[in-house]
Amino acid sequence: MAETTTGTPAIEIVGLTKVYGKTRALDGVDLEVPQGSVFGFLGPNGAGKTTTLRILTGLATPDQGTARILGRDVTDVDNDVRSDIGFLPDVPGFYPWMTAEEFLRFSGGLFGIAGEALDARVKALLELAGLTGVKQKVGGYSRGMKQRLGVAQALINSPKILMLDEPTSALDPIGRKEVLDMITALAGRTTVFFSTHILSDVERVCDTVAILHKGTVVTQAPINELKERYGSQKLVLEVTAQSNELASLFSAASWCAGVEHTNGRGLTLTVSDIEAARVAVPAEVAARGLGLIRLEAGEVSLEEVFVDLVGGGQ
Ligand code: ATP
Repeated sequence: MAETTTGTPAIEIVGLTKVYGKTRALDGVDLEVPQGSVFGFLGPNGAGKTTTLRILTGLATPDQGTARILGRDVTDVDNDVRSDIGFLPDVPGFYPWMTAEEFLRFSGGLFGIAGEALDARVKALLELAGLTGVKQKVGGYSRGMKQRLGVAQALINSPKILMLDEPTSALDPIGRKEVLDMITALAGRTTVFFSTHILSDVERVCDTVAILHKGTVVTQAPINELKERYGSQKLVLEVTAQSNELASLFSAASWCAGVEHTNGRGLTLTVSDIEAARVAVPAEVAARGLGLIRLEAGEVSLEEVFVDLVGGGQ
């Protein structure tokens, strides 16, 4: 058994392949999730996210490749990888006649947790899930409450790695925020690996992301690095008078990939050659007798990176 050290990746996947009939659900996935990260596993429907999570949690076996959790192969039946994992599947099951506290106590019992240790764990998790004192049965819960309870249940064994499959997809904005807040509260304490197709969720809570497309990881990096590496660069400018003439001029420039009006005197330029743009923009503004109020780098969104990498049609 490999030793668990801080240098060992929480999850390490090499060449993972899974074929269902004629569908290559996974086609050589390579992935490394650092310990302590909140890692977004991002991909459109059918990309292979659930299949990857099912293999990591021992619910499916790979056809080729390896998947390791804290250095230990997930297919090695002799090791106890699963004691290090908490998992919330995409469609979690609950006993509707239980309260949240009863459900967490029941789940803790399955892991052999009892007595004061169980009391303390259940109390802390009910607090984390915002369900302290809720006497209602789970069957009457909103989707958001169920999902928060699901995350709490996945944490009952104090796992080193929490895996969540699309934890926010079926939720309204408030429900999503509450689940994302729970994930944020875990940052630094537990490695969190969660799959989603919702870019803004990844942007809100993750430090690192991998983008999965058609069974292959097309990129993986810290989010800020990814934005710098792949996103088309942006320049935001504001001039002293109407900027229509400038907009048409910039649209035709070789360094410009797009122009958007932000208001009568403001423009956001998507640029393919930032150096050329930095020289040309002030010169063209001055040549038209206009003043430059501001010229600054614009924010590149993860959505733009995503579209750049996997295409708008997905
Ligand atoms: P979604 O967000 O839609 O759940 P996903 O990224 O989780 O998508 P997977 O569920 O892993 O994707 O599916 C990847 C591909 O493998 C899809 O084409 C899917 O139809 C196929 N697939 C997954 N599980 C099976 C199975 N048990 N039998 C046959 N095909 C499957």
